[in-house]
Amino acid sequence: MSRISLNTQIFLGAALGIATGAGFMQLGAESSVTQQGLYAAKLVATVFIDLLRMILIPLVFTSIVVGVANLRSHQQMNQVWQRTLIFFFSTMAIAIILGLTAANLLQPGAGLEIAMFQDAMQAFKVTQMSVTDFFAHFLHSLFQNPFAALAQGNVLAVVIFALLLGIALVAGGERYRNIHVLMQEFLELILMLVGWIMHLAPLGIMALLLQLVASQDIGLLSTLIRFMAIVLGVTLLHGVVVLPLILYLTTGMTPATFWRGAREALITAFATSSSAATLPVTLRCAEQHLHVKRDIAGFVIPLGATVNMDGTALYEAIAALFIANLAGVELSLIQQVIVFFTAMMAAIGAPGIPSAGMVTMVMVLQSVGLPVEAIAILLPIDRILDTFRTMVNVEGDLIGSLVVQRWVQRD
Ligand code: ASP
Repeated sequence: MSRISLNTQIFLGAALGIATGAGFMQLGAESSVTQQGLYAAKLVATVFIDLLRMILIPLVFTSIVVGVANLRSHQQMNQVWQRTLIFFFSTMAIAIILGLTAANLLQPGAGLEIAMFQDAMQAFKVTQMSVTDFFAHFLHSLFQNPFAALAQGNVLAVVIFALLLGIALVAGGERYRNIHVLMQEFLELILMLVGWIMHLAPLGIMALLLQLVASQDIGLLSTLIRFMAIVLGVTLLHGVVVLPLILYLTTGMTPATFWRGAREALITAFATSSSAATLPVTLRCAEQHLHVKRDIAGFVIPLGATVNMDGTALYEAIAALFIANLAGVELSLIQQVIVFFTAMMAAIGAPGIPSAGMVTMVMVLQSVGLPVEAIAILLPIDRILDTFRTMVNVEGDLIGSLVVQRWVQRD
């Protein structure tokens, strides 16, 4: 096994997981083989995800502190910071525009009626959160006691504190060299642990995909097939055409080279449906395979994993129009502009965990007066859609780090 590269092992693990999951689905949930197989898969998948989560917070903290502290001059810091935000916002805007355009042209949900899903909706309770509440909540979550944030795994608050500490290290200069070196060495150790955890990735990914495939309800999928096809089509359009094109035009890197460097991270994102859990792998790919400088990758990628979500942004937009169609409501241009902005906020505010986008979608629906209970219709198919949108979310972060590196070099 050790002769085969990790990349290939991950690929094989994914394929084997999907095939075995399909086999279990054929056997049926009652079969004892299925039950035992799923139990074993659950154990392996849990250990793999737990290991990634274990390393996540120390990794985010040290990589951002070191990333920012290494951007020595203030001018370089400003450049990276501004360009990163420009990249994040503009690619998310493109994603949402693509989503809205496709949904307007193809009208998902036309022909289905919300009454068909009455049962699901009645069982669904939702915590109401208006745009203003959401914004206040979001703002509040940015600045927290760093020890509490580290202990509770509050990624966004850890990112903010690490950014501030990194900036302070730049401002303090030589006087704080020891802490700078300490952080740097700590980061190296954490990255060594990530390397070890990655040896489990082929098995972990196999287990995750096996579970995912074995638990799909085919009947439900076929009712919503048109909606799913539109979401997947636009997600792939963004991930396979738009983002690689931006990458090629700015850096000259071909999609094939990018794919070779990024596939470990993309497959892990697909299997875990979590940008946060994938972060250790994403950073590793950026630095080791795609040769992004540690300072830039250490800054762009952890920030992107929590903020930059192209897949989520376009999904929120399409889903809002889908639900409007189900409810028989036609959204005006102004309402669609509102969907544009709230979908962006919802994507930025969604933490990088499975189905997070579903939670923040409440806000998008509410902003234009759509029935939030309709989310109940989307929940059962969310696991499948989440795989692809998380993959594109992570792809956006990787491409972001390459593009920002290029932009900064050019000046
Ligand atoms: N699962 C996505 C991610 O981690 C977030 C979402 O639910 O859209 O990137």
